[in-house]
Amino acid sequence: MADLSELYQQVILDHNKKPRNFRVLETANRRQEGYNPLCGDQLTLYLEMEGEAIKDVAFQGQGCAISKASASMMTAAVKGKSKAEAETMFEEFHRMVKGELDPESEENHLGRLKILSGVREFPARVKCASLSWHTLHAALEGKDESVSTEQPDDGT
Ligand code: ZN
Repeated sequence: MADLSELYQQVILDHNKKPRNFRVLETANRRQEGYNPLCGDQLTLYLEMEGEAIKDVAFQGQGCAISKASASMMTAAVKGKSKAEAETMFEEFHRMVKGELDPESEENHLGRLKILSGVREFPARVKCASLSWHTLHAALEGKDESVSTEQPDDGT
């Protein structure tokens, strides 16, 4: 396990320093804000959907290293995937960080994302790791072409 936690730290540091897909996506047709008040993590997720496919994805924002690294890895993982594939990964990722899915023993589609399973040992950071995935889920569920934070507060 020492090796895994070392890898976990290296990956988080690397993605935090050089986040992938960290930009405003000009071609986005969906935009979703995500906020984790427990830690102060904030991100804006951009999706360019082409039918049911995630043609491109990017994010901007600020937060702790785990939230940024997880968002970075999430964008890399879902780019080019279908909505259904991304929703499956969301569900598996969510179960993994809560400790309900062991990526080593249960079949899954997480690939390199399983490095983040280390976060389950730090319950306070689970929301940091899952913020970008919840934001993606909301963006995929969004009926509107563009989700604006200027809309009336609906309690979410
Ligand atoms: Zn955080």
